[in-house]
Amino acid sequence: MSTFKAPKGTYDLLPPDSAKYLAVRAAIAAPLRDSGYGYIETPGFENVELFARGVGESTDIVTKEMYAFETKGGDRLALRPEGTASVLRAALESNLHKTGNLPVKLWYSGSYYRYERPQKGRYRHFSQVGAEAIGAEDPALDAELIILADQAYRSLGLSRFRILLNSLGDKECRPVYRAALQGFLRGLDLDEDTLRRADINPLRVLDDKRPEVQKQLTDAPLLRDYLCDACTAYHDEVRELITAAGVAFEDDPKLVRGLDYYTRTTFEFVHDGLGSQSAVGGGGRYDGLSEMIGGPALPSVGWALGVDRTVLALEAEGVELDLPATTSVFAVPLGEEARRVLFAKVTELRKNGVAADFAYGGKGLKGAMKSAHRSGARYAIVAGERDLAEGVVQLKDMESGEQRAIGVNEIVAELESRLG
Ligand code: AMP
Repeated sequence: MSTFKAPKGTYDLLPPDSAKYLAVRAAIAAPLRDSGYGYIETPGFENVELFARGVGESTDIVTKEMYAFETKGGDRLALRPEGTASVLRAALESNLHKTGNLPVKLWYSGSYYRYERPQKGRYRHFSQVGAEAIGAEDPALDAELIILADQAYRSLGLSRFRILLNSLGDKECRPVYRAALQGFLRGLDLDEDTLRRADINPLRVLDDKRPEVQKQLTDAPLLRDYLCDACTAYHDEVRELITAAGVAFEDDPKLVRGLDYYTRTTFEFVHDGLGSQSAVGGGGRYDGLSEMIGGPALPSVGWALGVDRTVLALEAEGVELDLPATTSVFAVPLGEEARRVLFAKVTELRKNGVAADFAYGGKGLKGAMKSAHRSGARYAIVAGERDLAEGVVQLKDMESGEQRAIGVNEIVAELESRLG
């Protein structure tokens, strides 16, 4: 063991488990790629002001959880705590929204950083796959994103997740509700911090998990009752489209989410096997974000799904992903000449698209066969001096144990045909 350990709240992804993460990322990306979303990558850090303005000055993410720092050159940067603000910044900077082809549909996959209190399912470095549809106000787009996330989870074999749906209103009706909620909260028995939060960002108080707070919130005014006609009609349309697609959801009038930029549609995917960190993904509409970061009005919608928690959800449901062994053929040379011959054959197999590996380190037959088994390879090719003198190698089927000699020059064709 070295003197160093992974920093608190982080963990390493190691084989064979790391294959699950790749599979989860691929499964989430697949429906997006089939639906017109293009891949985008942005830097791991941004100007800190982007998140302060975008995510919100009063959110936990910005006030408590951001890895912000000053560079030697005096730039104020932050490791990205989420993806949406960066993606929108990039789209605006490159004028993607000016091509006349709206919405701009983008998907991403990457690492995100939040200085949180670590626990199972909550890390300081975590991984998300996300999607954003920028520049269109259309309930079908909100519905599309929810349907695609549902499809991604189902394609992984997950079923014990639920979709919580709400509308947060718009700049017309939300302020009216906000004032009503503030009036209500001021009459409650709350600690000073919470009262301050009620002043700055009252909707966030609804998200307070403490039972003594929740108890007092049962009669809180609901945004649902304050939505303007346009927001109500929009929300009804989203609900109808999702329902027509056969995707089940629950109305959750108290769902607010931890980011300030959301308007109208907001949703969260929760999984019932995960304990307190039950949100596996979330998102919503953010019609005002572009203007908040200095861009034109660009109504948009998006989500981010947590890869770490999706893997935990798979484990909670006992879903075994169908991950084929990465190595199909394992070569076991016995002696110097065999080493040269088989190494060349392994290279040739790989060039022909057959996943092959080799017993390195001059192992004896027993140790090398153990490595062959561990690799998960379907076939082993074993060769010693005597085999080579006859121009053959031994081809062993690792499943049936059956073994037979084949010519050295037939190896590639034989394995290609056997492996289909
Ligand atoms: P959020 O941006 O907070 O809505 O997060 C979207 C998704 O990212 C969540 O539903 C989680 O699956 C995942 N996520 C957020 N924060 C963390 C964290 N600290 N550790 C692990 N996953 C996280």
